[in-house]
Amino acid sequence: MSSDSLGPDGTVRLRCYLPLATSLYFAGSCPRCDRVVTVGVEAAIKLMGSAEATVREASARLRCRPCGGRVDLVVCPDTRNVEAQRRDGPLPETQEMRVRE
Ligand SMILES: [Zn+2]
Repeated sequence: MSSDSLGPDGTVRLRCYLPLATSLYFAGSCPRCDRVVTVGVEAAIKLMGSAEATVREASARLRCRPCGGRVDLVVCPDTRNVEAQRRDGPLPETQEMRVRE
């Protein structure tokens, strides 16, 4: 990964994840209510209005919908095997923002 892939805060720019947009997503648990918030790569870019934004900037912007808590996002790969990925398609987590109880 080139140094251009990192933003000023040292975390990776969202656009670097675009080639993997159907096989990974961002997730974190809300410190206030313990719900798990997940957001897909394209949904995170839409949230930020720019693919140049970094993962940490997306974390700072994203709020848990039910309670407004700030969620620290980490990158989560799709851990299903290739056969399951082919059969069932991309995980719903790789699509829009979701909140799990
Ligand atoms: Zn919450």
